[in-house]
Amino acid sequence: MIRHRLLLLGMKETEDFSKADFILFNTCAIRENAENHLYGELGQVKGIALTRKDLFVAVCGCVMQEEKPVRYVLDHFPFVSLVFGTNNIDAFYVLLEESIKAHATYVDVRSQPTALVESQEEDTSGRTSRYTAFVDIAYGCNKFCTYCIVPYTRGKERSRRKEDIVNEVLFLKERGYRQVTLLGQNVDSYGKDFGDKYAFADLLEAVAQTGIERIRFTTPYPSDFNDKVFDVMAKYDNVMPALHLPMQSGSDAILKRMNRRYTRKEYLDIVHSLRKRLPDVYLTTDIIVGFPGETEEDFQETLSLCKEARFDGAFTFIFSSRPGTPASRMKDDTPDSVKHERFDRLKDLIDSLSEEKAKSMVDTVQEVLFETVSRRDQNRISGYDRHGKLVHVTGDPSLIGQIRKVKILESHTYSLVGELLDD
Ligand code: SAH
Ligand code: SF4
Repeated sequence: MIRHRLLLLGMKETEDFSKADFILFNTCAIRENAENHLYGELGQVKGIALTRKDLFVAVCGCVMQEEKPVRYVLDHFPFVSLVFGTNNIDAFYVLLEESIKAHATYVDVRSQPTALVESQEEDTSGRTSRYTAFVDIAYGCNKFCTYCIVPYTRGKERSRRKEDIVNEVLFLKERGYRQVTLLGQNVDSYGKDFGDKYAFADLLEAVAQTGIERIRFTTPYPSDFNDKVFDVMAKYDNVMPALHLPMQSGSDAILKRMNRRYTRKEYLDIVHSLRKRLPDVYLTTDIIVGFPGETEEDFQETLSLCKEARFDGAFTFIFSSRPGTPASRMKDDTPDSVKHERFDRLKDLIDSLSEEKAKSMVDTVQEVLFETVSRRDQNRISGYDRHGKLVHVTGDPSLIGQIRKVKILESHTYSLVGELLDD
C-alpha cells in the first residue's frame, strides 16, 4: 500500500541507497535478528545522510510499535525524518506532510488500530508482481502465544468483509492475475469477530468460485481448523493442494507453555485426516527449537512428530526472546550451543524428509506458474508447481506469468529441475 502511494507521487524505484532521495524501511519484529538487521541498514545509510541533507529517511512497521527500538533509532540515527507503526498506515500522506514540516524526527506510533478502512483499488501498480498477489483477509491476532510479539504490534483480530475480499480477487483476475494468496495470522479464525465459526471455509469457497486460477492461503491455526476447509480444497481444483500448518513443538508440555491451544495428538489427528482425505496435499510447518525449558525429551518429541507427520518442508527457528512477551520472563537455562545443535539435527531431519518427497516427484508432470528469470542466465526460468515446490527449467522469459506443464528430471532438497512439455 505504501509502495503504491509513493508511486502515485511520481517516485521511481531503486535498490541502490546512494541513488535514492527517499528511503523507507518497513520492519518486522518477529525475531531479534530482524531488528538488528534494521540497525545495520540504517548504519549504512548514515554515511550518505551526512553528505545529503535533502535525503528523506522513514522507518515504519512492527519494530516501531515498541518503545525501545524507537528510542534507539532517535538516539543513534537522528537523520531519520519519520517514524510510524502499523496502526496508522492509512494516514501515510498526512504523516509525510507533517514530517516534512517538522524540524526533528516526526514520530507517530499508535497503540490502537484505527477502524478498517476499505479503499477501492484503482490499479495494481503498487503490487510487486503482475501475476501473483497477496490478499489480506484479516489483520492482527488474539492468540497470545507466549513467545510471540505479533498481538502486541498488530493488535486484535479484525476480519475484512467477504464481499470486499471477493471483489479484490475479481479485480485482480480481470487484470490478468493468476494466483492469490489469502493472508492472515490465523486464516481459520477469519470471521470469528462476526460470530461465524465456518467463515473461512465459506470465504475460500467464494474465492474459488471467482474462477481465479490458483488460490493459496496462509496461515491456519491448528485448533481453529475444521474439516470444512478440506471439503472446499477437495471440491475446487483452483485451491492449491498445499497446507502450511504451524506445529511449533511436538511436546505437550512445551505447547502448553507456548499457550498453543492444541495437543500433539490433536495436531496429528488433523494431519491424519488430511492424508486420508487429500493424499496429494503437501504439508509444511513452522517449528521453534530451544523454547525456554525445552529438554532433550521435549525435543525428541518434536523430531518424532515430524517423522509421523511426514512434513514436506518446514521453516525452523531458534527461539528468540522478544521483550514484553511472557516467554521472555521464563527461566531459560539451555546453553546456546545445545540449541544450535538441536536446530541442526532438526534441519537434517526436515531436509531428508523434503529430499525424499522431491525424489518421488522425478518423472512426474507438474503444472508450473513461472515467476522469475535467473539473473545469471536469461534462459533459466523458475516458478512454483501446484504444491508450492520451486521448479527451474530452461525456457524463454516470455513464459513469465504463464502456467505450463513440466516434466521433472532432477530433485534437490529445496527445488526441482525439469523440462517444458509442449502443450
Ligand atoms: N500466525 C502464525 C505465524 C506467525 S509468525 C502461527 O501462529 O502459526 C511465523 C513463525 O515465526 C511462527 O510460526 C513461529 O514459528 C516463528 N516465531 C514467532 N515468534 C518467534 C520467536 N519469538 N522466536 C522464534 N520464532 C518465532
Ligand atoms: Fe503469534 Fe501466530 Fe501465535 Fe498469533 S497465533 S500469537 S501470530 S504465533
